[in-house]
Amino acid sequence: MNDGFHLSKILFFTRINISLRLRSHLFAMFVARSFIMNCMRIFVWMVLADLVSGSALMAQQAGAQRRAIVLHAARLLDIGAGKIMSPGEVLVEGERIVATGSLVERPAGAEVIDLGDTTLMPGLIDAHVHLFLHPGAEDLQTVEESVPQRTILAALAAKDDLMAGFTAERDMGTEGAGSADTAVRNAIDEGLIPGPRLRISGNAIDILGGHEDANDFNPAQHVLSNATYANTSDEIVAAIREQFKEGSDFVKMYETGPDSLRNGVFSTPYQYTEAQLKAGVDEAARVGKKVAVHAMGEPGTLYAAQAGVASIDHAAQLSEETMRLMREKRIPAVPTFTIFEYFANHASSEAAGKRERAILEYHAAEFKKQVAAGIPFAVGSDVGPFPHGTQARELVLMVQFGMKPLAVLQADLLNAAKLLGWEGQIGELKPGYFADIVAVPGNPVEDIGVTQRVSFVMKGGVIYKRD
Ligand SMILES: [Zn+2]
Repeated sequence: MNDGFHLSKILFFTRINISLRLRSHLFAMFVARSFIMNCMRIFVWMVLADLVSGSALMAQQAGAQRRAIVLHAARLLDIGAGKIMSPGEVLVEGERIVATGSLVERPAGAEVIDLGDTTLMPGLIDAHVHLFLHPGAEDLQTVEESVPQRTILAALAAKDDLMAGFTAERDMGTEGAGSADTAVRNAIDEGLIPGPRLRISGNAIDILGGHEDANDFNPAQHVLSNATYANTSDEIVAAIREQFKEGSDFVKMYETGPDSLRNGVFSTPYQYTEAQLKAGVDEAARVGKKVAVHAMGEPGTLYAAQAGVASIDHAAQLSEETMRLMREKRIPAVPTFTIFEYFANHASSEAAGKRERAILEYHAAEFKKQVAAGIPFAVGSDVGPFPHGTQARELVLMVQFGMKPLAVLQADLLNAAKLLGWEGQIGELKPGYFADIVAVPGNPVEDIGVTQRVSFVMKGGVIYKRD
């Protein structure tokens, strides 16, 4: 973090203070609601000025005017066809793509942006993030940091992810910050702060004494769990209803843990029975929503597949029967290798580092079998405990551990778009889709590593980054 970052944070807080005083004064003088709303808009633009660069802000205003933009680059990734087109162009009007091809029509007055020797591709999707987590704090964030503090950091994390090219994300739990993610998602949707399109789970759901509970503290201190307790099917239904009421888009349930690997044998206890998971899946389905699980291994992964969850996240250990069900029901695994690599490299002790490394190696070996078995995958990094904006590393690791670059890109763009419920809206550069477009140097099908060097970011027709 550089000085500029801190300065912008100080400006951010100062402006909040000035604005709060201004607001209370105005409330006393004027009761007209429309006037207050206009003041709020001005305030929001001031905050935005701290969060995005001047050029992005100008682009945002231009986008709002629905001006046509033609993006031109040396190449374009047609992810559906699995081909690179050369050169590549995209015509954008307002928030949508109007045309793509090697040469698109240039309407009168269209701005043509030449992105040179880059590849245009759909905005990256991360199907497993934690905007409310940051490196170094881990479980104690709940104890040490207030929810308002964590919400401000989550807004900054959303910006970091967007600037790295992630234009859509699934947030897999605030980890003790309740439904504060509702405010972050809504602020992004309303254009108040920059960030990816979000699907959010609110707090995750866990059993008493389970994976996310605060188990190793003095009981007299009543340290809170990082998830919402639910021990029975009825409690699961009640917790889900509460979270939907507070704004969540889907449900995250912790199905396994803690994990152990001894003499090459991986084991992890399940937390919910198949029937309990099914109660959650049915309750979510009642209102058209889904359940995703944290599930590292058997038998929890099997129970999740049987119950019909939307995705099995982490998925280090999947039996033949579990993989058969995942193929049949099109349930993707989300491997999240980056978090395990980060923990192995940043462990508190040598022994802990060895343990994390062994689990990563076990998972990588199992992943090869999973790829061979033909199960679907989506790309999710579990970013949060490691720095936001660095998670394209996940695509690199999936290639390193045995998947073809094009298959990883299709898992990231096509499968994740479907998993997030935006199939036909994002994940491809097609007419009618949201103009969520990034540019990378080089060819991502030949070198997946270029996804770590995104040089241009557009989301919904608004340019946020242009190197
Ligand atoms: Zn996670």
